[in-house]
Amino acid sequence: MAVWDDLVGQTKVEEQLAAAARDADALVTAHAAREPAPEASKMTHAWLFTGPPGSGRATAARAFAAALQCVSPDRALGGAPGCGFCDGCHTTLVGTHADVEIVRTDLLSIGVKETRDLVRRAQLSPAGGRWQVIVLEDADRLTEGAGNVLLKAVEEPAPRTVWLLCAPSLEDVLPTIRSRCRHLTLRTPPVEAVADVLVRRDGIDPETAQAAARATQGHIDRARRLATDERARARRSVVLKLPLRVDDVGGCLKAAQELVDAAAEDAKQVAEEIDVKETEELKAALGAAQGGRMPRGTAGAMKELEERQKRRRTRTQRDSLDLALTDLTGFYRDVLALQLRSRSALANTDVRDALERIARDTTPERTLRRIEAVLACREALDRNVAPLLAVEAMTMALRG
Ligand SMILES: [Zn+2]
Repeated sequence: MAVWDDLVGQTKVEEQLAAAARDADALVTAHAAREPAPEASKMTHAWLFTGPPGSGRATAARAFAAALQCVSPDRALGGAPGCGFCDGCHTTLVGTHADVEIVRTDLLSIGVKETRDLVRRAQLSPAGGRWQVIVLEDADRLTEGAGNVLLKAVEEPAPRTVWLLCAPSLEDVLPTIRSRCRHLTLRTPPVEAVADVLVRRDGIDPETAQAAARATQGHIDRARRLATDERARARRSVVLKLPLRVDDVGGCLKAAQELVDAAAEDAKQVAEEIDVKETEELKAALGAAQGGRMPRGTAGAMKELEERQKRRRTRTQRDSLDLALTDLTGFYRDVLALQLRSRSALANTDVRDALERIARDTTPERTLRRIEAVLACREALDRNVAPLLAVEAMTMALRG
């Protein structure tokens, strides 16, 4: 299984990355043999992967990182790097390769300090003699200060350093940075391709896979979660009932409260899973005595961790709400498709009755205004409006 097999519906990107990996390999080989570097290489030091959520930006970046580290003996026989089996490929894909740093954040932003540490790390020569690869999965979350720190590193990279940045769109990255990156765009994979991968790789039965792929409109991670996680299915079905519940003011307020509570509950669950362990680990690392007494001078570090955990809870809650809003938008898109007699396939066929009822009782204009209300709620949340206020405004606008 080659490293590219994890990419779904991205033939063009795959071809470009495979060609670059081949040239990168030629560079390493020429250097080792003290030969001059080949000319016209497709390899470069900074790459930017963009594409809608779920298109597999990070997966593409990781596959490329693996191909760059591929040490398969088949390469010498003309095989392409990225075999998926050799030590280089394997350790990169499981996240233990010494020369590959994968940065993924559950926080809202990546600050200057973290970025400085990364840049320092990027200067190191690769221990394995190939490439020092830094995968920044959330380059859109760099603060402006952090972006400027990164810019210097991207402008003057060490000879064997490769930066792989991922972001939803070009606009999410500082212009100065993106102009120095080679840009690759991933597309939303077709529903069929997502269903296929769920069956093939995750062993999900074809019917469930098809339903999950359709409901999430080609978002691989969400489709996988929906197909495997009972809780995710329950949450989605509650959200899809909301349009039938917003008949009067009381119903609107109640539905809003429930949506926000559910998101808070998600955040709490994640926190319970991670925070306690993290806190214990830090305490142990700082040398806590028996009974939990902390040595002098460690209060600052503990406080920093608490702050981090608080920011993470906020982010989890926001992500959970965002997911609900995505489902809701999909619902009204389907209503609109029915009203306009569009031929496109419905995403939410499991609630077809509700879709048809609302389509029959309202107008396309009304549906468009409802979609706008959901989008306005998302924007309000992005601007840090209190979640309950934003969601109440939305449910009221969805009414009757
Ligand atoms: Zn390999």
